[in-house]
Amino acid sequence: MAISRADCAALDAADPLRHLRDEFVLPDGTVYLVGNSLGAPPKRASAAVTRVVEEEWGGRLVGAWNADGWFDLPTSTGDRLAPLIGAGPGQVVVGDTTSIAIVKAVSAALRLRPGRRVIVSDLDNFPTDRYMVQGLAGALGGYEIRDVRGTEGLDEALAGGDVACVLLSEVDYRTGNRHDTAEVTARVQAAGALMVWDLCHSAGAYQVDVSPADFAVGCTYKYLNGGPGSPAFVYVHPRHQADAEHILTGWHGHAAPFAFEPGYRPAEGVRRFAVSTPHVLSFASLNASLDVWERADLAEVRAKSVALTSLFIDLVEELCAPYGLGLATSRDPERRGSQVSFTHPEGYPVMRALIDRGVHGDFRAPDILRFGFAPLYIRHVDVHDAAVTLAEVLEKEHWRDERYRRRLAVT
Ligand SMILES: *Cc1c(COP(=O)(O)O)cnc(C)c1O
Repeated sequence: MAISRADCAALDAADPLRHLRDEFVLPDGTVYLVGNSLGAPPKRASAAVTRVVEEEWGGRLVGAWNADGWFDLPTSTGDRLAPLIGAGPGQVVVGDTTSIAIVKAVSAALRLRPGRRVIVSDLDNFPTDRYMVQGLAGALGGYEIRDVRGTEGLDEALAGGDVACVLLSEVDYRTGNRHDTAEVTARVQAAGALMVWDLCHSAGAYQVDVSPADFAVGCTYKYLNGGPGSPAFVYVHPRHQADAEHILTGWHGHAAPFAFEPGYRPAEGVRRFAVSTPHVLSFASLNASLDVWERADLAEVRAKSVALTSLFIDLVEELCAPYGLGLATSRDPERRGSQVSFTHPEGYPVMRALIDRGVHGDFRAPDILRFGFAPLYIRHVDVHDAAVTLAEVLEKEHWRDERYRRRLAVT
């Protein structure tokens, strides 16, 4: 084999991030390669949530809105998250969900380009990104959605000079492939359109550089480990902050929410992208995770992510060569996130059989086996064990078991 388990253990012993794995709750006997869907809980999340319930909510009741900074959670948490995506203070607001954040960012972009009536949407994007744009365009009326596939067809789509904004995901949720965001953003902006990036599969996977983007959105429960349903973020470039106005004009984005005025006036700066009462308990677990992130060197995170994903590709290609897997992810580390995907015609039962043997990946229709490598807690030995177990499932055809064919609601 290209590399033995003992060699992997030696790499783990020399890993500068190894101490951070102890910060996470990970069940024994499980190789958890689904941190790209729901990150593992930081150990300190439980105490952080309990503290908010007992000391803040229990101790100060409604007074906690002032005393414990609840009202400012969207912006204070945004400032803590900002360095992870290459943004500065006052540029990120946290709250709501990614689907809602898309409506905020895209509607603001449309208003900044009033003469243009086309939104470019990616057929391969995560469906909710497409669905939200479809709902928005329908509600506003008079907009055309122009579909591209990744960046295929982008130049043609931009050529007419009628595109207001382009919404793409930096990392494709199925393949794990990553766009050259600087290059794509420059092309979009050269055509006079605004660029909105979805960073759901980027934030926490590596150091993102959001700075050329006009807007960006992303979730915090994947690589950022904020907990199930933890709030999303919106980034607004400083050049747009004075003029950007979105359509979800809730009271938490008002200039004076406690003046209870009958008419909406946007707050100064990124605060106007807040909508409604923050989910305080989810902010507690997210901030517990950001405590851990503060101790992570992002260059080390990226180096480890590249090492883990490259190792997984090498091992799987070596051990599983005869069994019909196809690599769906780029071999160039620059062109991938922290995920590796393989196609297999029996992908669903293969993944179920693998999960039954302790290796957790997930399946995305029609035929994709996804494996996410959260660099804060995945080790080289995990990569090794996952590849060996996958080879066993394929060689012994464990996936042929009838039980693995019935589809569960969440794949
Ligand atoms: C995970 C993900 C979402 C999730 O949206 P929610 O509103 O949090 O359910 C949206 N877009 C992309 C690209 C994702 O990967």
